[in-house]
Amino acid sequence: MINRMSQKTIGIVGGGQLGRMLTLAALPLGFDVIVVNPSANSPAAQAGAREIVADLYDAAALEALASQADFITIEIEHIDADVLEKLAASGKLVNPAPKTIKLIQDKYLQKEFLHKAGVPVASFAALTDEKSALAALKKFDGKMLIKTRHGAYDGRGNMVVSSASEVQEAFEVFAGKELYAEAFVPFEKELAVMIARSLSGEVATYPVVQTIHERNICLEVLVPAPVSETVRKEAEKVALQVAELLDGAGMFGIELFLTKDGKILVNEIAPRVHNSGHYSMDASRTSQFEQHIRAITGLPLGDTSLVVPASVMINILGERDGPTEATGLHDVLAEPGVSVHLYGKSPTKIDRKMGHINVTDKTVAAAQKKARAARKKLTI
Ligand code: AMP
Repeated sequence: MINRMSQKTIGIVGGGQLGRMLTLAALPLGFDVIVVNPSANSPAAQAGAREIVADLYDAAALEALASQADFITIEIEHIDADVLEKLAASGKLVNPAPKTIKLIQDKYLQKEFLHKAGVPVASFAALTDEKSALAALKKFDGKMLIKTRHGAYDGRGNMVVSSASEVQEAFEVFAGKELYAEAFVPFEKELAVMIARSLSGEVATYPVVQTIHERNICLEVLVPAPVSETVRKEAEKVALQVAELLDGAGMFGIELFLTKDGKILVNEIAPRVHNSGHYSMDASRTSQFEQHIRAITGLPLGDTSLVVPASVMINILGERDGPTEATGLHDVLAEPGVSVHLYGKSPTKIDRKMGHINVTDKTVAAAQKKARAARKKLTI
């Protein structure tokens, strides 16, 4: 019988794909993992995590998680941060800091915080009603986004509006939700930087990547980002400035816009591992998942450098509603440099994140071509 008594346990709030990949990184380092997840047989549980089936706002479940874990972390920010704050106050190691999670839960407060700290962001405005939205639309030269302040993810919670009727439509779609407006940024590219901070304050930065979104969902990630050295340095500088403002250990994803006149604006922060770092599983010396586990458990941070010249990640988004059935894996894996990571989710749904493909190659262009070809061969 295995003696698990001496093993330390990591408790993760959320057991989706990020929880699964964190679990897969934690086990080889000798940690046990337990997750709270709203449904049973979560992607993380399939990978070996114990599971408490409960809502992420269920205080008793989060307390039960804490009673069984030495280190607490999150894979999603839409959770009860008040309970985590109490647990941290009682001496539990909770990372990132609940204060940071709270700030990020409200996208408007997050923007305000960044702006006040002198971080470049797009112009934004609080919205109370349609009238205030029409005033904002005028101020933002006739094109803006209406965004929900809370609970938005994977493209849900954003609408581009450029007319009074579209404003009205947004208020209908988002009825009952707190909203704010952001000036539309006609960006040249979207970039992202993953940064790790350890319990002792050590910081490690991953290479700047380009992210390509469709329907507001991340579709592809290109690394290294095809940008000039000047842009790369500026993106790193701004991302580090943001990371320094946030409390707690772990991975932080800083999403950026590169404007047409070469400026960097911060779009938003993810206080956790992030889709823009998935490539690191196959292309970096230390994956973002291992790095997060190292960071929150007091271990030294790992080398963030690429072990290949270039990598492209492409998300496998669901294309229909129904039972999951992956086909085409044989053809995809016949190609050298291609790795597939499926999340064990069922059913498949339109635009649901079902997995991703990582490709490594000599150049970003070659990796992107291979990744797109691989994605076409796979159905799920
Ligand atoms: P978000 O969930 O707020 O990060 O938005 C998702 C995606 O919507 C971003 O990755 C962009 O592609 C797009 N987007 C968000 N905010 C803006 C903006 N102010 N201007 C232009 N596009 C935006």
